[in-house]
Order: sequence, then structure tokens, then C-alpha cells
Amino acid sequence: MRKINPPTYSLKAILELCADSVQDKGLSLRLLGAIETLSAAETVYRELGKSNDLYTIAATDAVDKWVSRGEMETLYTQTFARKGGPSRYIYDTIRASSPGGLCPLCNQRPVSTLDHHLAKAEHANFAVTPINLVPSCKDCNTDSGARKPTVKSEHTLHPYFDSVDGEVWLTASLIPGTPPSLIFSATPPVHWTDDLQAIVKNNFKVFGLGELYTIHAAGELINIYFDIESKPWTQETLKAHLLEQAGNRRRMVKNSWQAAVYEGLAKSDWFCQGGYKNVAHSPLIPPQT
Ligand SMILES: [Zn+2]
Repeated sequence: MRKINPPTYSLKAILELCADSVQDKGLSLRLLGAIETLSAAETVYRELGKSNDLYTIAATDAVDKWVSRGEMETLYTQTFARKGGPSRYIYDTIRASSPGGLCPLCNQRPVSTLDHHLAKAEHANFAVTPINLVPSCKDCNTDSGARKPTVKSEHTLHPYFDSVDGEVWLTASLIPGTPPSLIFSATPPVHWTDDLQAIVKNNFKVFGLGELYTIHAAGELINIYFDIESKPWTQETLKAHLLEQAGNRRRMVKNSWQAAVYEGLAKSDWFCQGGYKNVAHSPLIPPQT
């Protein structure tokens, strides 16, 4: 997970654009009436988000007396995010705000949508609130539907608030075999708070990052094999080479899964003593003709 800059759009401006755009004039007036309530809710959200306390926000069926949850959901899909609509540029700008177009939740797949960190199906107050709209890939958006934290430790990471890339917590271990494979773990530093350790582990689990990285690592392992197979390594020189490669990859993203792969291989005596030759048996390598 990578921290990204939060959107700077004003919720009031978004609501005014939406109110101006909806056909139902009664709804338009009620949306304008709801601005104060929604702005107050946004202020609470910004405060609670800093301390992973968003779980304390109760689900709401309506924005006070103004707008129902169903109306807010429809407002999001049919007005705020509508292609060609007056606020679509805001949707597009938030969606494009993750560097490199990579989903900040999995750091692997391309962004294709916006994820409601607090689900719009539960929280009428946050359906179009920009700080609740996070660029994400489709898979992470779907997986996030299972998030219903009841305590702090059940949270997933919020890319606008949480920064967990200062220290290494993503590791990989090589499983010897023909071919070998890699399994990933979230192992946060023990000096982090218990809650933050639990949140990082929960995030890793909810978004299926272990499975995702294992699949991609199988291909990376073959690239590494072709890179090293014809060179005269000793165990020590191969280990040093792999650690150097890991270090290079950590320079951009400390918890890069590729860095975890290289480090996991360097830690494996089996791999560095010649086990890497077993990668040649990967079913992903096309048969020689
Ligand atoms: Zn993703």
C-alpha cells in the first residue's frame, strides 16, 4: 500500500455541481440543504482518519432529514461519476491521482475506478465526499466490500492517511521445489503499535496481496533465472548479487514485492547453492523446439 495525496476538491462545490445537474428540483434543493450536515461529517472523517478511528462512524440510512442513502448512491453513480456530467472531471482527476496509474491498495494493478473507503451502501454521508474516494483497481474495489471494521485493528489501510512504507514489512520466502515458488508475508516491525501491525496484516489479507504477488513472482523468478543461469556464481557472489538487486528495488518502494522476491532468494541457501536451476522446470517456460 502506498500513501498518496488526498484530493483537494471542496465537498460543497461538488454538491453544488450535482444539485445544479439533477433533474429533480426537489432533490436539488434538499442537496443544497444537506451541505452543512455533509460538511460537518467530512470534518469528523478527516479527524478520525488520522488515528484509524473511522470504524467509530456508524452507518447511516440518510443525510439527516435531507437525502436518503439510496438517493446519495444514485447521485454518485448517475450524477457525480456520470460520463459527460459536470462533475466527471473531479472523478477523473481523483482517479488519475495515484502516481504511475498504479492502484495504491495493491501497488500492482492499474487504477480503473474509485473505491469508497467507507462503503456508500452503508454510509449515506460519504457517497460523494472526496476524502472517502480512493483511486483503485477493480479487484481491490471489489475486495474492499468485505471491510466492516468494528475495532481499530480490523481496519484496512487508507491511502490518504496511512504511511507504512518507512520500514520493510513485506517479505517473501522461497519454497524449494521443481520449480520453486515464493510465498509472501506481512511481518511488520515489532516496535510498531499492536493496532498498526494488525492493520497491515489485515490489509494484506483483505486484498489478497499474498496470492497476487505469488502469481507475479512466478514470472519474475523466470526472469531472474535467465539473468543468472549462465554466470559462474558461488553461493556468496549470487547472494550478494540478489541483495544488491533487492536494494535497488527498495529505493523506489520500500515494500516492493519484487524487492521481497530478491531478498527471499538471497536468504535461501538452497537457491544460492544451485537450486535456482530448478526454475528451468517451470511450466511457464515454453518448451524448446
Ligand atoms: Zn489494487
